[in-house]
Amino acid sequence: MSLSPLIVVKVGGALLTDGNALRHVSESIARRRLRGERLLVVVSALRGVTDELERAATLALDARSGLELVRDVMDRLRRQHESVLSELPGRDAVRLRLQPVLDSIGGLLTGIRLTGELTPRTRDLVMCHGERLAAPLVAAGVLAAGADARDVTSEEAGLVASGTFRVGSCDLAATAPRLAALEHELHDRVVVLTGFYGVNAAGDVVLFGRGGSDYTAGVVAACLHARGLELWKDVPGFMTADPREVPGARLVSELSYEEACELGLYGARILHPRCLEPLRGLPVAVSVRPVADVDATGTLLVERRAAPSAPGVVALAARRGVAVVRVQGAAMVNEPGVAGRILSAMGEARINVDAVAASMTSLSFTIAASDAAGARHALRRLHERGEAGVEDVRVQEQAALLGVVGERVAGDPTLAGRLLARLGALGIDVHLVCHGPGDVSLSCAVPEADLRRALLALHEEFFPAGARPGRRRARSA
Ligand code: ASP
Ligand code: MG
Repeated sequence: MSLSPLIVVKVGGALLTDGNALRHVSESIARRRLRGERLLVVVSALRGVTDELERAATLALDARSGLELVRDVMDRLRRQHESVLSELPGRDAVRLRLQPVLDSIGGLLTGIRLTGELTPRTRDLVMCHGERLAAPLVAAGVLAAGADARDVTSEEAGLVASGTFRVGSCDLAATAPRLAALEHELHDRVVVLTGFYGVNAAGDVVLFGRGGSDYTAGVVAACLHARGLELWKDVPGFMTADPREVPGARLVSELSYEEACELGLYGARILHPRCLEPLRGLPVAVSVRPVADVDATGTLLVERRAAPSAPGVVALAARRGVAVVRVQGAAMVNEPGVAGRILSAMGEARINVDAVAASMTSLSFTIAASDAAGARHALRRLHERGEAGVEDVRVQEQAALLGVVGERVAGDPTLAGRLLARLGALGIDVHLVCHGPGDVSLSCAVPEADLRRALLALHEEFFPAGARPGRRRARSA
């Protein structure tokens, strides 16, 4: 018998809003299975569940939060999952499966409450329960839709984690041989796997970072040599801009891995930036597809796009809630290592720096607005110690970072000119312009209140009506 191709499908738990949604997703999976494909489905937690678990773990620490907190959380989670499986044949069996998971959440929260202690290890353990609740729902849905299915947890499947809690990684070399044990089963049924976490050598649950189920899907596709990885989303695919900001945004038919990652880093919440990391060099066809019609290709992600003859913008992305820090000092001209000291001070304060632009006498960079106070404090200390030639520090809050993404855009000076001209014509104050790392993005920081106008104008500039996104336009003479 010839082997049918293996496809890994990632289904976001946020898609499972009610019984109808579960039925639709399950039928889409079952249909593909009955067509002869072998399918491994990776699921994430239902919408808001991971946040709720994290919040509950923290609240449980407060001595005043009583048993009601624990009961409330369990009740809410039970109701949310109930509403999704309410119309499912076989729901009683699923309820029996969910109960121990809910009990485990209850037990952990009680433990935190009684000990007044929440370690990173326990937090990860609490937060992985959303996926443990979601996987049985999807497996039951697929069964009800007429294809055999079984849910497995990351620990059963053998996803070996390494690194720090919360933002760990998967050890691919250790994981691949363990996952191979699923190969056989995949001939008989759909396997539904929990995303988001693995288990380290000490037996502890380690999360792969928020939104990390996409990464799990990439890992599994790589380890099992899948032919395809499909990320089912509630959007048509990657768009030329967020359609909520830019109504004229269009579907992008093809993106390189780097372009997709870059868009993810700017906050296009389509794909986790680490999803493609395990897939480099492997012949896996990756696509982001609309859950409404999973036979549509959506956006194809390829390691390298064919013939990148001229730079071209493929999409715009933006992130709100940014602060722009501008450090000035005349001494910066002569003294080597100043920029390094300033950025190290940010690192020591555990502040993540995104875009950086430097001149002879100033250094500007963007950080999350929530880090603004910490950055001010760290820079004040540098100033007081007379270090780094810091004379003046300005922090512009309520800014947004806007990225213009496409292969080789950073190397094209005309693009920056067009960007500045367009924003200048609208009187939008550009706090900073910077070439992203690598060659695939050009970014600028603008006042948050002007972001929408900026996006609309730049979309018009780089995606004039009639031009086809995802294809390169020849560079105009
Ligand atoms: N449920 C996890 C989160 O909310 C993982 C994911 O959604 O991919 O971060
Ligand atoms: Mg997600």
